[in-house]
Amino acid sequence: MKPIDLRSDTVTKPTPAMRRAMAEAEVGDDIYGEDPTARRLEELVAERLGLQAALFVPSGTQANQIAMGLHCRLGDEVLADAGSHIIHYESGALSGLWGVQPAPLAGERGLFSPEQVKAAVRTDFIGPRSRLVSLENTHNRGGGKVWPLDRFRAVVDASRAAGLAVHLDGARLFNAAVVTGTPASAWASLTDTTAVCFSKGLGAPAGSAIVGSRELIAEARRLRKRLGGAMRQVGILAAGALYALEHHVERLAEDHVHARRLAAGLAELPGVTVDPGQVETNMVVAEFPGAQADTVAKLAAQGVLAGATGSSPRAVRLVTHLDISAADIDEVLVRIRRGLAG
Ligand SMILES: *Cc1c(COP(=O)(O)O)cnc(C)c1O
Repeated sequence: MKPIDLRSDTVTKPTPAMRRAMAEAEVGDDIYGEDPTARRLEELVAERLGLQAALFVPSGTQANQIAMGLHCRLGDEVLADAGSHIIHYESGALSGLWGVQPAPLAGERGLFSPEQVKAAVRTDFIGPRSRLVSLENTHNRGGGKVWPLDRFRAVVDASRAAGLAVHLDGARLFNAAVVTGTPASAWASLTDTTAVCFSKGLGAPAGSAIVGSRELIAEARRLRKRLGGAMRQVGILAAGALYALEHHVERLAEDHVHARRLAAGLAELPGVTVDPGQVETNMVVAEFPGAQADTVAKLAAQGVLAGATGSSPRAVRLVTHLDISAADIDEVLVRIRRGLAG
């Protein structure tokens, strides 16, 4: 029985057409600024996000961390949801690389309010200097939650009024764009820097971009080099990302349909608690009868790979993506039903 892998949208394999685009990519030494494919990708991403310039980097973590380095100085503080990727999943890079400390905000599925920003900004002279606010759209630990544009704008306005710079971790920004029918630039153009991933739902094997003003991106190029992220004939990877951006954005809608369908099916299973109304994009978080690790093992034994998630001790996360079909969803539901019965 072939396992159906719903652990993450990062597990996708490049399609034959994407591999062809990569194999045929025109390349040059990108550190000399001579890789035409990386350049095309950067121009396209900047245009799509409504900002001046972009830089291709190896990972979303590096894109976020370059942003931290651009905006912050030693001893500064970054306001972000307590469950944000920059606090939770980047190996302590905020403090480890930049000497910056997090000011974790208690968001609701990753979303916080202008009032929370105002209350968290330090104005006393012995406190750290509040320097940056970082928002995540869609929110990973929030179960793929979308930041409504009005609320996002209100937080950006409050942050600017408090003198903060604004970063958007848009690893899954295109999911938010597709499900709301709002261009990704509507969020990104309000920020100083935005990071996007090509290796999540878009299905490229690697790569992210950081986007911002020409001036910030020129400095980002220095920081990328310092972090060891500058590469040579990187057009081979950039071609995968470019292919993803040109062919795999609109299809994210299918992942969202599959996730809703999965949630509706799970809601009918005895002992499983899931609110299909909470499924906004490509993630389903469901509570199962047993402990997280037991459920993950039980599902794996049935050929369904799922992940533990932070939201509760019994919550399991299932993520739809490019390599999951509607038939796979039906099969997943059959297998889970069998697993719970057995
Ligand atoms: C995956 C992800 C990233 C970047 O992760 P990498 O594995 O370093 O590419 C950043 N932010 C969020 C919200 C993510 O889900």
